[in-house]
Amino acid sequence: MVPLLGLNTEELRTVAATSGVQAFRGNQLAEWLYQRNARDFDRMSNLPPAFLESLQKHFIIGRSKIIITQRSTDGTVKLLLELSDGARIETVGLPYSSHYSCCVSTQAGCPVGCGFCATGQSGFKRNLTAGEIIDQVLSIGEILKETGNHGRGRVDHVTFMGMGEPLLNYDATVKTLKLLNNELGLSARNLTVSTIGQVPGIRRLSQEKLPVTLAISLHAPTDDLRHQLIPGFVRWTVAEIISAGRDYVSQTGRRLTIEYCLLNDVNDHAGEAQQLADLLQGLNCHVNLIPFNPAEGLPYTASPPQHVQAFSNLLAKRGIQVTERARRGADIDAACGQLKQRNC
Ligand code: SF4
Repeated sequence: MVPLLGLNTEELRTVAATSGVQAFRGNQLAEWLYQRNARDFDRMSNLPPAFLESLQKHFIIGRSKIIITQRSTDGTVKLLLELSDGARIETVGLPYSSHYSCCVSTQAGCPVGCGFCATGQSGFKRNLTAGEIIDQVLSIGEILKETGNHGRGRVDHVTFMGMGEPLLNYDATVKTLKLLNNELGLSARNLTVSTIGQVPGIRRLSQEKLPVTLAISLHAPTDDLRHQLIPGFVRWTVAEIISAGRDYVSQTGRRLTIEYCLLNDVNDHAGEAQQLADLLQGLNCHVNLIPFNPAEGLPYTASPPQHVQAFSNLLAKRGIQVTERARRGADIDAACGQLKQRNC
């Protein structure tokens, strides 16, 4: 059975036409899938019975099962979702004063294996399909509607920062970006793809004519330190990654985000702040300092506030735009991969 979720309106029009009904029925189907969050065919009351019968014979909708819902006192919602083959992934909803963001996973597990990440320690199962990625946004959207939380009750920003490396699942990532843009009506500017520094993927994405924000998870200003933190991902040097980031900025006109997770006494000294500032001189970027979320079995601790402040001040003094990301969902299994680890 083929999942419908993940097909765009054009493809759904083809499904309709090949099922012997007028192509516009495909537009109605797209509305049920992406605007009205249909989880079963019975709700699709405006579709002809013969078309519904044919759909039920050959297709499934392709929604995941929500296994666990965790709600933080700060409004963060984390879901553990089960896919059709039993693989489990996480997705997170994050309310902000101006918008509501969903952080999606692009792979079940992750092949990169960062030493400070719970997902990286739990191995890699498989790539997700575009349908399985957009399903996460729809699932968080359902929770928003149920709770009447946040303004319009819909997700308006999506970050590809959950489990997995999006650019190692390039085709499904780009297809999802287009679905979010065209089917859910989200502005490309409100979509962020975060990569550990997969240089060929960055270069390919810059040619897509999709002005999405690119975030590079750098975490270290030198090759030696990066190899220590991300031992399985030594293919591209820091210089090559930043060069690809510079080209992305010039191709798309978008400001680059540099993600830097601060680990106590590992990458948070004044020396690393200076090296980072040297590296980023003249680049249209801002540095997002991320607080480390400790998880069982990981050999790192979070930088204390005085280290964070000193690191941030030093970058700012060197003319680098810098923000400190607030820790969210600290009272639920906030670190990426933690909720899955506990429940698989
Ligand atoms: S931080 Fe991202 S790239 Fe690294 S192991 Fe975790 S999920 Fe993979």
